[in-house]
Amino acid sequence: MNSLLKIFFSLLVINFVGCSKITYSIDFLGSKLFTKQLSQKRKLINEVDSLLNNDDLSPEAYFVKKVDHILSNGKIAQFDDDSIYYISGNLSIVDGKIDSVAYQIPYNYISKSGITDLKGAYVYPGFIDAHAHFLYQGIALKSIDLAGTASWEECIERVKKFIKNNPNEKVYRGQGWDQNDWAIKKFPNNSSLEKISDKPIILSRIDGHAILGNSVALKQSKIDLNSKIEGGEILKENENLTGLLIDNAQSLLFITKPSNDEKSEALLAAQEKAFEYGLTGIHEAGLPREDIILIDELQKKKKLKMPLYVMVSESPSELDFWIKSGPLKTNLLDVRSFKFYSDGSLGSRGALMRESYSDRENHFGFEVRSFDYMKSAAERLFNNGWQMNTHSIGDSANRRMLNIYKKIYQYTKKKDLRWRIEHAQIVHPDDRSTFGLGIIPSVQPSHATSDMSWSMDRIGPERISYAYSYSSLRKSSGGILPLGTDFPVESMNPMYTIYAAISRKSLDQNSEKSFQIQEALTREQALIGMTRDAAYASFQEKEVGQIKVGMWANFSIFTTDIIRCPEDSISKLKVSETWIHGEQVYVNHAK
Ligand SMILES: [Zn+2]
Repeated sequence: MNSLLKIFFSLLVINFVGCSKITYSIDFLGSKLFTKQLSQKRKLINEVDSLLNNDDLSPEAYFVKKVDHILSNGKIAQFDDDSIYYISGNLSIVDGKIDSVAYQIPYNYISKSGITDLKGAYVYPGFIDAHAHFLYQGIALKSIDLAGTASWEECIERVKKFIKNNPNEKVYRGQGWDQNDWAIKKFPNNSSLEKISDKPIILSRIDGHAILGNSVALKQSKIDLNSKIEGGEILKENENLTGLLIDNAQSLLFITKPSNDEKSEALLAAQEKAFEYGLTGIHEAGLPREDIILIDELQKKKKLKMPLYVMVSESPSELDFWIKSGPLKTNLLDVRSFKFYSDGSLGSRGALMRESYSDRENHFGFEVRSFDYMKSAAERLFNNGWQMNTHSIGDSANRRMLNIYKKIYQYTKKKDLRWRIEHAQIVHPDDRSTFGLGIIPSVQPSHATSDMSWSMDRIGPERISYAYSYSSLRKSSGGILPLGTDFPVESMNPMYTIYAAISRKSLDQNSEKSFQIQEALTREQALIGMTRDAAYASFQEKEVGQIKVGMWANFSIFTTDIIRCPEDSISKLKVSETWIHGEQVYVNHAK
């Protein structure tokens, strides 16, 4: 290296390290501030030293580095085990990935598309919802919204209004009713849906585990008093069908499915909403092949920008197809897992319990798939390297699945299967330790608070004491607890997830009571659950979930510090910018 350059760089080192004394500012929560500063400085000096001693580089290389974009003046969240600290500084992006995280923009950096001044905003790794129904959310956005109704009569009113405003629909779909929210907490029947329309009307319960169809819908699907199904129930009253189909019985409905155009519209509508909430990745909890192909096409056309980790809805034919064709991976789509159901939901008494329900005698819920079926499917998935993700709510369903997983884990020394239990809602304390084998509990903190007003009725005081035990599950699993919402069952808003996880309170203004506060997570654990742990649960920890050089430039940006703001304000926080793969996909700087 020529001597002129050496002098220039010596000056640069002094200048850079000198400057950093003034501009270094790490907002720090722990006690490691000084060691971090020192080690960071030492690293910086070593890096410049090695540049100075490298005679192979051409002089131009020192002066100019073109990057695609620079985000300046942010507080960049970094994880250190289970704690979070911020680096006050800048990010550069190349090819959609994080190129540098630095206290200052290096002198030789030139940004092709300019610099975004974040004005001191807080940059978090882009949020990932580890369990959601993205397509279904989109369809729900375009159907009759029955969530939050106070009575069945209110549902009927909403159905009538929708039909009046949308007279040309072929099928009327609604979703979101929950009899637990009504004064009369009884399942509805279809008698009041008759005469409203001569077209099929199908109304899904909030959890998707029960559906009410009018007689046209039942007739079209050839469902009558003689129809039978394993793992579900066709409800009858005085020898008449009530129209209510629970769990597997829902599959008996043969109603015109939404067209691909309608589905595409739905996906894009769901995406817009997700951007608003700072979501940069979603684990789609179960879709058939045709929908996965549609998603891939929309992503390739660059219309759908949301990265999706899609679990395949299992069926014998889907298993045959995917195991033969192998996993699918693009920059935006990852298919390497199957979604199974071992039972139903607690709200519709479909969750499989070891003992009878407290509010329905001799009723234990439903085994959606037999033990033998699950066992052989697990073996097949293991032999072919697929991840198995099983919906398990009741204590019996969880025990069965954990035992099946445990057997499989014994075959392998590697134990990096990362098989998941989705929901892990009522896990007997004796079964928790099984998660320690490397099985991942994938939970939804807002379920605990949404269900708290009625879950005790279903299972009684003893069993409720070990339900929704997120902190205990996190400990059992070695500190891995991916979080999701199960939207549209719950709101998409990740801030509600954080609030529910840390306060264990519902968003209802009257609610002052925390549900089993000993099972609360810390804010850091909640944030890590929606980022780093979610990435781990999808084998993507080297690609997303943290703000590190080489990872995708996915950010959720806020003007408020999520870790330190008052607890009550969390649910009201709004995202100011969302970035996916180095592209700003959402911005709202309104105060
Ligand atoms: Zn779900």
